[in-house]
Amino acid sequence: MENNINRSQQNRFFISSLVSFALLFAILGLVVLTLFKTVIYNNVDHDLTLNKTMLTQASEAPSINQPDQSQFSTMMPRRFIGANNAPFRTNLLVFNANGKLLNKASLGDRFDLLSNIKLNKKHLNQIQNYYANQGSSFRALLIKVPKSSPNFIYAGKYVLILENTDSERIAVQSFQTVLIIAMLIFWVISILLSYFLSKRNMRPILKSWNQQKEFVYDAAHELRTPLTIIQNKMEYMLTKPNSKIIDESESIATSLSEITRLEQLTNNLLVLARSDSNTNVLKPETINPQTFFRTILEPFRAIALSQNKEFNFQNDLKSELYFDPNQIKELIIILIDNSLKYTDTGDSINIRIKKHKNNWLFSIIDTGTGIKDKNQVFDRFFREEKSRNRKTGGSGLGLSIASVIVKNHHGRIWIEDNQPKGSIVNIEIPLRSVKP
Ligand code: ADP
Repeated sequence: MENNINRSQQNRFFISSLVSFALLFAILGLVVLTLFKTVIYNNVDHDLTLNKTMLTQASEAPSINQPDQSQFSTMMPRRFIGANNAPFRTNLLVFNANGKLLNKASLGDRFDLLSNIKLNKKHLNQIQNYYANQGSSFRALLIKVPKSSPNFIYAGKYVLILENTDSERIAVQSFQTVLIIAMLIFWVISILLSYFLSKRNMRPILKSWNQQKEFVYDAAHELRTPLTIIQNKMEYMLTKPNSKIIDESESIATSLSEITRLEQLTNNLLVLARSDSNTNVLKPETINPQTFFRTILEPFRAIALSQNKEFNFQNDLKSELYFDPNQIKELIIILIDNSLKYTDTGDSINIRIKKHKNNWLFSIIDTGTGIKDKNQVFDRFFREEKSRNRKTGGSGLGLSIASVIVKNHHGRIWIEDNQPKGSIVNIEIPLRSVKP
């Protein structure tokens, strides 16, 4: 089931990035090709308009009756294109108003090539593409030379200026082929890339999916145990309808303590859920470190003493702090509570608070059982020894909440081994962790 979800999601990623890549390449190719065509034909069109100006304004005109091409070549200094039996780059077809070709003689051999081109007055002053015999291509501009033109040979005639575009057409075709090959190569590369990306993108999703699943499973499991105990106690009491409350005080006390446990658990779950949805609102205040830490830590001294454990704290912090006092209080309680839970009679718990650069450093050094999985203990519901911890009342959420609080205050939390035994839990938080 999980594998199916994984695979179908990965396929979706794969297909979507593949389509995106293909689309991107197609658009890129189209844009590049269009730009290339525009630039390349712009030069031809520029030549056409240049020739038009020369024809309408030139005082010295070439003769259409002259079969000698040198007259045309002075006016049309374009190169001869060798490929495809191409004719002169620029050709002129001169028509009278009835569409009769007037310069057939001067065209010589080229007439065979251009014979299929007729006068079409609808295209007057418009640049058009023409295809001559033998597959030659042209861009052409039809003009009507005014009667008043000093260029008397063309005056009053229709002149079709033809620019041979065989070389441009070949260049565009070659470019198009190169472009298609390049795009295909890149598309194949993008298939591999999409596959790799889809696999990589799946990893964090899978991780959080698994975390979520485990979280729900563990939470349900943790909630079920106290609920079962309460249910059993209630059912037992129902079998003794005539008993007095005093007779069943043990069952009632157990039920109440399990209810307290349920309450704690749901509160913890709520804190974590809020942190997941980023709805934890900080209420920071300016704090006097001496009174703040003393008020929290002092009551623990009595608890430690009652368990025959040594408890000391030393606070060297003088500068004012700025943080959410409720959250930091909860953080400290979680850490000291753990130290008390995981130490035995005769062990010691030492607390050091000091300034370190622009941060305040809080260390709890205990001589208890020590922590083996120093990173995993911050995972939700993680407990090193489940059986022992059930007795201590833990649910494996304390350090997860502690790390959320530290993160809220832009600090860090880490664990070290204490010598010869036990652990050191450190937190480091900026002096002004939140902007006032
Ligand atoms: P719990 O509610 O079980 O204490 P925590 O998230 O606070 O959950 O701690 C996770 C686990 O880390 C604990 O179950 C315990 O195994 C270990 N641990 C935490 N603090 C200490 C400590 N001071 N000494 C030894 N083990 C500890």
